[in-house]
Amino acid sequence: MPAPEEPEDPRPRTAHPDATARGEVDPVARIDELRETIRHHNALYYDQDSPEIPDSEYDELLRELKRLEELHPDLVTPDSPSQTVGGTPSVVLPPVRHHVPMMSLDNAMNEDELRAWGNRLGRQLGPDAGSVGFVCELKIDGLAISVRYEVGQLVLAATRGNGRVGEDVTANVHAIADIPDELPPGSSTPEIIEVRGEVYMPVPVFEQINAELAAAGEKTYVNPRNTAAGSLRQKDAGITAKRRLSFWSYQLGEMQGGPRLATHHETLELLARLGLPVNPNIAVLETLDQVYAFCARWQQLRHDLDYEIDGVVVKVDDLARRDELGFTSKAPRWAIAYKFPPEERTTRLHAIQVSIGRTGRATPFAMLAPVFVGGSTVGVATLHNQDQVKHKDVRPGDVVIVRKAGDVIPEVVGPVLSERPAGLPEWVFPDTCPVCRTRLVRAEGEADHRCPNESCPARVAGAIEHFASRGGMDIEGFGESRVQLFQSLGMVHDVGDVYSLDYGRLEDLEGFGEISVANLRSAIEASKRRPLANLLVGLNIRHLGPAGAEALARHFGHVDALMGASVDDISSVEGIGPIIAASVREWFALDANRAIIEKLRAAGVNFAGPTRETTALPKTLDGKAVVVTGTLAGYSRNDAEAAIKARGGKSPSSISAKTMALVVGESPGASKLAKAESLGVPILDQDAFEHLLETGEV
Ligand code: NAD
Repeated sequence: MPAPEEPEDPRPRTAHPDATARGEVDPVARIDELRETIRHHNALYYDQDSPEIPDSEYDELLRELKRLEELHPDLVTPDSPSQTVGGTPSVVLPPVRHHVPMMSLDNAMNEDELRAWGNRLGRQLGPDAGSVGFVCELKIDGLAISVRYEVGQLVLAATRGNGRVGEDVTANVHAIADIPDELPPGSSTPEIIEVRGEVYMPVPVFEQINAELAAAGEKTYVNPRNTAAGSLRQKDAGITAKRRLSFWSYQLGEMQGGPRLATHHETLELLARLGLPVNPNIAVLETLDQVYAFCARWQQLRHDLDYEIDGVVVKVDDLARRDELGFTSKAPRWAIAYKFPPEERTTRLHAIQVSIGRTGRATPFAMLAPVFVGGSTVGVATLHNQDQVKHKDVRPGDVVIVRKAGDVIPEVVGPVLSERPAGLPEWVFPDTCPVCRTRLVRAEGEADHRCPNESCPARVAGAIEHFASRGGMDIEGFGESRVQLFQSLGMVHDVGDVYSLDYGRLEDLEGFGEISVANLRSAIEASKRRPLANLLVGLNIRHLGPAGAEALARHFGHVDALMGASVDDISSVEGIGPIIAASVREWFALDANRAIIEKLRAAGVNFAGPTRETTALPKTLDGKAVVVTGTLAGYSRNDAEAAIKARGGKSPSSISAKTMALVVGESPGASKLAKAESLGVPILDQDAFEHLLETGEV
C-alpha cells in the first residue's frame, strides 16, 4: 500500500477559531478565505466525488464561517457557501431544473444541539402548538436524487446539484434495479409524483468492486459514498448498471393527484405502496427524549447494517406544521440531521515509517494492523510531522485509536495508554532520508522535515507522477507503478525524460503489449499540446497550484517570459503572492530545472499560453450584457469580465430582461440563477461561455 503523501496545497485547510476569538484575524479576510477554501472542497466533494479532507474538518470550516457571519451579518452574501446547497451542475450531464428545490439539512452534532432545534420549533410554532410529533429515519450516506413519474412512468431522474439545478441521470437511474420504471396502476398512484431519496452502494458491493480492482492491480475506490456518486454521474449508463447501486426513498417533491397526505409517515406508507423501497428502520415518536434515544441506539447499531449511515434525520411529522415552519435559504426548518461523531476503532501500531514526497517533504506515517473504520479498511494513516507524533505520543507497539469521519482520510487519534507495554520506547524521527540517505533538514519555523536532495529517487518519482497527473500534463497510463518501473530500469531520471522513452524497449517488458505501448505513446504525444498552465502545474514548483499557474500563463504567455522574470515581475501578477513568486523564481534559477525545460523544448512541448493582449479581439459581444456568477476554471472573476469587455460586451453585476446570458461557474449565486430562470435568460456553463466569447452566439 502506498504511503499517504499529504497534498502540497498552500491553501489554508483548517479553521483557526482561537485566532478569531483573540480578534487577530480580519473578519472580512477570514470570511473570504473560508469561502474560497470551502468552495474548493465543495468542488472536490460534490463535483469530482473526490474529497481531500475529512467531513469533520470540512464541517469545522463551515461552522467557523457561519459563526463569523452571525457576528457580522452585513458580510453575509447570497452566494456564500453557508447559504447555498451542494455543488455545481456538471457540464457533462444535461441540466435539470427542480420544480421543488432539493435542500440540504441543518446539523446537530450532539444532544444539546438536537434539543436546541426542538426548542426553536416550539418557539416558532407558538405556545399553543402542543407536542410536535417526529419521524426519525436513518441518514443514508449516499447521494440524493429526485425521480419523477408521470402517469406511472419514470420520465426523469436528477441529482441534487446546487439544489435548484441538478444533472439529468435518467438513463443511469433506469439501470438501478431498486428503482421501478413504472408504478402500479390504481387510484392511489398520483398523476405526477417526484420521489426523493438516496442512491447508495451497499458495503459488500463496494468491497467486492475494490477486491476486483485490487486483483487487477488497479486503483481502488475510497468509500461507498463517493463510489456511488461517481457511478451514478456517468455518461455511460452501462457503467452505472455494473456498479449495483441501491436506493431508499424518503421524501416527495412535486405531487399532483393521488391521496391527500397529512403526515410524513403517511408519505412513507404511500411510497412503500407504490413499490418504492422505504427503509424499515423508521420510528414515529412523540418526544425529544425518545428521539435522542433513537439516535443513540443507531449510533451503536450502525455497523450492523450493510450500508453506511452517518446519522439520523429527524423530521416533523405533521405536514401542515412543516408549511408553517418553512425553510431557510439552504435547509428546511422542520428537519435536522443528527450527525454521528467521527467513527473510532482501536488497532495495533506496528511501525512508523517516513515517506518522501515530490517536494522532499518527509511525512511520518503509521503502519497499522488493518482495521475496518468509516467504510473502508485502513492499514496506513498519516502522522503529518514530527511534532504531531510527539504531541500524540504514539509509539510503535502501541494500541492506537483510529478515526475516520465517515469519509476519506484516516487519522490516528492517540494511544490507549492502559494497553501500552512497559518500557515501550518513544519513536525518534530519522536523521536521514529513508530512500537516498541524505541528511533531512527542518528549517526554522517549519513543521516539516525535508529531504534536500533534488535527485532523491523518491522525489523524482513523485515529481514525474505529478507531471503526468490530471492537473498537470494529464498522461493516461503514466501512474505510480509505471513511473517506478521506468525509474528502476533507468529509463527516466527527471520529467524531461517522459518524452524520450524508448518505446521499442517497452514492448519487450512484461505487461506491455503492442497496443498498450501504442496507447501510452499517443497519450504522451497528446500531452505535448496541453496549455501552458498545465505545464506549469506539472513542473512541481513548490506552492504553485492550478490557479496560480493559470494566472502566470495568462500574464506571461510563454515559458521563456516567465523564466526571465524577476520576483517583482512575478509577484505583480494578480493572485500571486511573494512566497509563490520567490518559489517560481528559485525553480527557474536552478540549472537542473533549466535543463528540464530544454529537454521539454526539444521534445516539442507547448510553451505558449494565452497572452494578455485582448484588445485586438473580434467584437463578438458588441454592446451585449453577460453576467457571471460563481468561479470558472481558469478565470478569476476579473478575468471573465475582462474577456467579455475585450469583446465589446458589458458585465454588470445584476440580471435584467436585457441580459444576453448568465454564465455559471462553481458555487453560483442562487438568486442570480433563480432570476435568470424566471426571466428566461439563457444559462451557460464554461464551454458555452467560451463558445460565446468566440462566436457571440448562445
Ligand atoms: P447533509 O449530507 O449533511 O444532509 C443532506 C442530505 O442528507 C440530503 O441531501 C440527502 O442526500 C441526505 N439524506 C440521507 N438520508 C436522508 C433521509 N432519510 N432524509 C432526508 N435526507 C437524507 O448535507 P449536504 O449539504 O449534502 O452535505 C454536507 C455533508 O457533506 C457534510 O457531512 C459535509 O461534511 C460533507 N462534505 C464534505 C466535504 C469534504 O471535503 N469532506 C465537502 C463538502 C461536503
